[in-house]
Amino acid sequence: MEMTVRVRFAPSPTGHLHIGGARTALFNYLFAKKMGGSYILRIEDTDTSRNKADAEEKLIRAFRWLGLDWDEGPDVGGKYGPYRSMERLNSYQPYLDKLVAEGKAYPCFCTKEELEAEREAAQQKAQTPRYSGKCRHLSKEERQAKIDANVPHTIRFAVSGNDEITFQDHIRGDMSFQRADIEDFVICKSDGVPTYHFAVTIDDALMEITHVIRGEEHLSNTPKHVLLFEAIGYPIPEFAHIPLILNENGKKLSKRDETILQFIEQYHDLGYLPDAVNNYLALLGWSPGGEYIEEEIFSLDKLVELFSLDRINKAGAIFNQEKLMWVNSQYIKATELDKLVELTKPYLDEDAEYQLYLKQNELSGEQAEERTRELVALFQTAMYQLSDIQSLSKLFTVKETKYDDEANQVLQQEQVSEVLASFAKKIEELRAYTPAEIKKALKAVQKETGFKGKQLFMPIRATATGQVHGPDLNQTLYLLGKEKVLARIDHVQKQVVS
Ligand code: GLU
Repeated sequence: MEMTVRVRFAPSPTGHLHIGGARTALFNYLFAKKMGGSYILRIEDTDTSRNKADAEEKLIRAFRWLGLDWDEGPDVGGKYGPYRSMERLNSYQPYLDKLVAEGKAYPCFCTKEELEAEREAAQQKAQTPRYSGKCRHLSKEERQAKIDANVPHTIRFAVSGNDEITFQDHIRGDMSFQRADIEDFVICKSDGVPTYHFAVTIDDALMEITHVIRGEEHLSNTPKHVLLFEAIGYPIPEFAHIPLILNENGKKLSKRDETILQFIEQYHDLGYLPDAVNNYLALLGWSPGGEYIEEEIFSLDKLVELFSLDRINKAGAIFNQEKLMWVNSQYIKATELDKLVELTKPYLDEDAEYQLYLKQNELSGEQAEERTRELVALFQTAMYQLSDIQSLSKLFTVKETKYDDEANQVLQQEQVSEVLASFAKKIEELRAYTPAEIKKALKAVQKETGFKGKQLFMPIRATATGQVHGPDLNQTLYLLGKEKVLARIDHVQKQVVS
């Protein structure tokens, strides 16, 4: 029978969606879509002291923005629900009871202090701390007496045997761990809540998860999960542990690393396009190879088509902030203007200087909308993130231009005064101050002064903007407005004369 792929992303609700989590979710999503399977969102909230009240909502919002929609999950339901571990406590209990009844798990009455003392003793002898197994050897009567006396206890899994635990990992190949290296680990805490190891195994088993695709930091947990799957008699899923994300120095990313924007919400706020983020994250540890080896831009549909677990690398993946910005700029360039205006407008709406500029130019309603559109069109190829529009639009909105060194140099040239005088006269005479008319004025200056190309355009651009580089000159002069251009010509002329 053909196996139906079922995969899950299982975040703990402890904070914002991290780029690492988003990439894990993306790989699960791509694999599910590629295989015609189901992608499930499950909230692992059994470590209750770490849960944050609004974290689930934030995670869901970030995923919805990325467009990585799930087939089953806490908000949409599904026939394997509920999809929050803490709502599944009833599902865990029978398995705990069964393991204890079969002698595969046992209650442990050791106190925190006793365990701490054992740990310290081991450390002093330079041994790896591990549970002594003390409570495993209690007699049936001793155990019952403690239970009757309500002595608080955890449940530990009894690790037996000396052979190796082996499993196949799609990325890392044949894995094997010494059974003897694994201590009798806690599967249920004294408050009756299962630990991560137990909850994840039972949930994966009952939700019929076929492939566990998760971060490499979980690799050392997997042998414990294999033991648990064996003990409860459920088929062991396939595993794929995806490589760590490294910073630009090749070091493991720490949450405090400020050289990298680590949270999806930050990308949302700065004006990244969700598919640009997906595109970049997909290439973090995976590549399509073959005829696509040189390509870097892939739509989500294309990623689904090309994705395979076998092409995920073992080596850590270096996160390159600039590359992500570049990918985003490619998506901005490819966005249809109407859509881009809609996405960029909020950044101008909240920009006080731009609002003042609209007011000073007496632009409101439709005219203001039109101006915003012109501005976005002008800077479409210059934006790396949509919020860049705020700094880029300063070209038009600043009260006083600062002349940079290059501009000052250009303004030393001999022809400057003549070119500016002629241009000022020509635009004064224009019937309408539009880009097309401005173009004609520039032509007329060329004819009158005999200067053309750089000798003509550079002084005008430098005068009007304080810089020698920038977007289309006609459009720039138009958006600056006639008053400002004339005022700046006047300013420069006075400086040159004095
Ligand atoms: N809840 C775990 C985490 O947030 C996921 C573990 C898993 O995918 O098995 O890292």
